[in-house]
Amino acid sequence: MDLLNTLVDKGLRRELPTREEALAVLATSDDDLLDVVAAAGKVRRHWFGRRVKLNYLVNLKSGLCPEDCSYCSQRLGSEAGILKYTWLKPDEASQAAAAGLAGGAKRVCLVASGRGPTDRDVDRVSQTIKAIKDGNEGVEVCACLGLLSDGQAERLREAGADAYNHNLNTSESTYGEITTTHTYADRVDTVQKAHAAGLSPCSGLIAGMGESDEDLVDVVFSLRELDPDSVPVNFLIPFEGTPLAKEWNLTPQRCLRILAMVRFVCPDVEVRIAGGREVHLRTMQPLALNLANSIFLGDYLTSEGQAGKADLEMIADAGFEVEGAEQVTLPEHRAGGGGCHQGADTGCHDSAAGGCHDGAGVCGSASAEPAGEPVAANEPRTDLVAVRRRGAGTDLAPNA
Ligand code: SF4
Repeated sequence: MDLLNTLVDKGLRRELPTREEALAVLATSDDDLLDVVAAAGKVRRHWFGRRVKLNYLVNLKSGLCPEDCSYCSQRLGSEAGILKYTWLKPDEASQAAAAGLAGGAKRVCLVASGRGPTDRDVDRVSQTIKAIKDGNEGVEVCACLGLLSDGQAERLREAGADAYNHNLNTSESTYGEITTTHTYADRVDTVQKAHAAGLSPCSGLIAGMGESDEDLVDVVFSLRELDPDSVPVNFLIPFEGTPLAKEWNLTPQRCLRILAMVRFVCPDVEVRIAGGREVHLRTMQPLALNLANSIFLGDYLTSEGQAGKADLEMIADAGFEVEGAEQVTLPEHRAGGGGCHQGADTGCHDSAAGGCHDGAGVCGSASAEPAGEPVAANEPRTDLVAVRRRGAGTDLAPNA
């Protein structure tokens, strides 16, 4: 297909595709899907080989947010039965992080709900960063604390943070339909503040919120312009108790096309599959490793992911390898800049964090249940959404 040959050539040269080419990727048929994956896979392997970077989320403060982001289970008025707790102490957060690092993660993403941190919150998080860095040589730490005020990014950088995550989430033109308590411009401002302070910028999107193909292309082109080191791609987990609970718009095929489009538009950037991987890609997750070079290990912020062991097995079975602490994530031309020469961050804060019950279907352990009726790819899979009940903020061991 001429389109794919053109996109591969452009991807290898870091040349921006046209909007029409990006839209055409999203419009490809199921018959062409493997060709699309193979083409975007060439670009992925050119810049990142067969390495998969593992990241580990620690939810420092869960729920009770005054903001109204429609996709978020922690939002104002959310009736999702998620864990709610205030700031973890540095030693508690450090203990949670240790589980992810022991499981193979090289980056810890420290996330807190809320509009943005107070200066006291920045102090707390600084202590937590220090506790994690003191105990784990070479670990990368990304903070994800919401909108930053002047000077806070610099303080986080001084405290040892390597990266900062703040997602654009959706196109500028539809942003007001998703959130009313802050603006798209606020988000751009925070990513720029983080970058200016020397933190490796991480910013991504959420797909599946009812947006059009044009919206998806808009937000990915805006991200390319913002030039983050990493782009987390979340697939909406429609949590019961949130305004988007009925938005089941994604199929595994659609998710693969979206990831391929992101790879073509942001060829040399760490593309991370974030929340919703298990819920929407399901048995197609291994194929998505040909497009993204980074995933989260284990659970998400407020929902459970597949067992960490299953993540590692999937990577090995698909012929990829977990990126080691000594390996540099980003291509050489990117690795020198920003605050983090080993790459950038996550799908935190805004992640429509999701997952599934351990022991069921695609998640972790094998199911002893009978196979039952066939399931169509576009049916809502509420059965795969499980609220996180273990790890940070609980007495139970984390999933890593
Ligand atoms: S995404 Fe962040 S700011 Fe928005 S409601 Fe959720 S926790 Fe609050």
